[in-house]
Amino acid sequence: MSVKHILLLPGDGIGPEVVKEAEKIIAWFNQNKGTQFTTSMAYIGGIAYDKTGTPLPKETLEAAHEADAILLGAVGGTQWESLDYAVRPERGLLGIRKELGLFANIRPAMCFEALADASTLKREVISGLDIVIVRELTGDVYFGTPRGVETLPDGTRKGVNTMVYTSPEVHRIARVAFELAQKRNKKVCSVDKANVLECTEMWREEVQKIHDAEYKEIALSHMYVDNAAMQLVRNPKQFDVMVTGNIFGDILSDCAAMLTGSLGMLPSASLGAKDKNGKTSALYEPVHGSAPDIAGQNVANPIATILSFAMMLRYSFNLAKEADLLEKAITEVLAQGLRTADIMQDGGKKVSTTQMGDAIIKTLAVLAKKEEKAA
Ligand code: NAD
Repeated sequence: MSVKHILLLPGDGIGPEVVKEAEKIIAWFNQNKGTQFTTSMAYIGGIAYDKTGTPLPKETLEAAHEADAILLGAVGGTQWESLDYAVRPERGLLGIRKELGLFANIRPAMCFEALADASTLKREVISGLDIVIVRELTGDVYFGTPRGVETLPDGTRKGVNTMVYTSPEVHRIARVAFELAQKRNKKVCSVDKANVLECTEMWREEVQKIHDAEYKEIALSHMYVDNAAMQLVRNPKQFDVMVTGNIFGDILSDCAAMLTGSLGMLPSASLGAKDKNGKTSALYEPVHGSAPDIAGQNVANPIATILSFAMMLRYSFNLAKEADLLEKAITEVLAQGLRTADIMQDGGKKVSTTQMGDAIIKTLAVLAKKEEKAA
């Protein structure tokens, strides 16, 4: 493997603590699995504002453009809440997504066997669950115009947002979903509301077109969003990859993610278009925020961030075997009963952030040895 550069953006709150554990894992792969990752660090969010007066400094953006992939912790905190909107920590995150053209958000919902009883759903519904939601991030009612609120001559108020998609926007997100399905179980369900919204009727037709022209080997189905929400809690294992627009994806991905339990366990990826050199911008981050209530206490769960690195191995570097090994190590550590406070259960052994990272590394070493012996 050639040298690959990872930009680390720890951010605020628990961000630096969880990214530090992922950094240890990156070093382990370099020392033991022949990967050649280099890393550098830059400021984003509240800390960037404190140091430079902006939540997304020019240097950070330049480093982001140059990196092969980005791993972000989290941004935000109470000390920045009174700032003007334009310089709030969260602006840094929205800004980097926009500047890198990250239009595809990928969120897996995976059930770790040892945590199956922690879900609010019955064990048999979620045991073995492994699905992915692909959400379009840059279009839809969040960006469409006209938008706004006006007061009419009779004194009543009117609020307007506009759902907009163009066929190229649908094509590129559909391709992300089909490509992903090719590396998985070859099933895509496209979610829309084609029975009442013309915009999503067009979405359905365009997804079908891309399928028929380029991805015939994938089983494509279409589902209305209300049914999809119902099916996600009734029988989520029927899905493999779901693809949908920005607003439906916002709601469905939170719903799917929480099928499996704690925020501290949920990774995500945001991908951009291929540039002229064939490089795809990619930012990986845990779904959770900066958790100011527990920051600096060495109690945060680093697994969401470490799983985000596993996604990076799989999707940015095509290192599926290494990603599998890392996910297996996490499964094993959970099976041993090790728990950070957020996922603590009766009979579990409570560990700190750093102890969880260390335990995953120790297990990686054991699994790697076993693999070597078996080979
Ligand atoms: P949050 O995700 O930070 O925390 C919600 C709850 O979950 C808290 O009780 C927290 O302690 C717990 N939690 C979160 N991650 C955890 C982990 N890894 N291990 C253990 N417990 C964990 O959400 P919030 O409290 O609504 O927001 C706090 C700050 O984070 C705000 O400033 C918000 O704007 C920001 N935020 C940032 C992002 C991001 O950077 N992507 C996402 C959401 C919120």
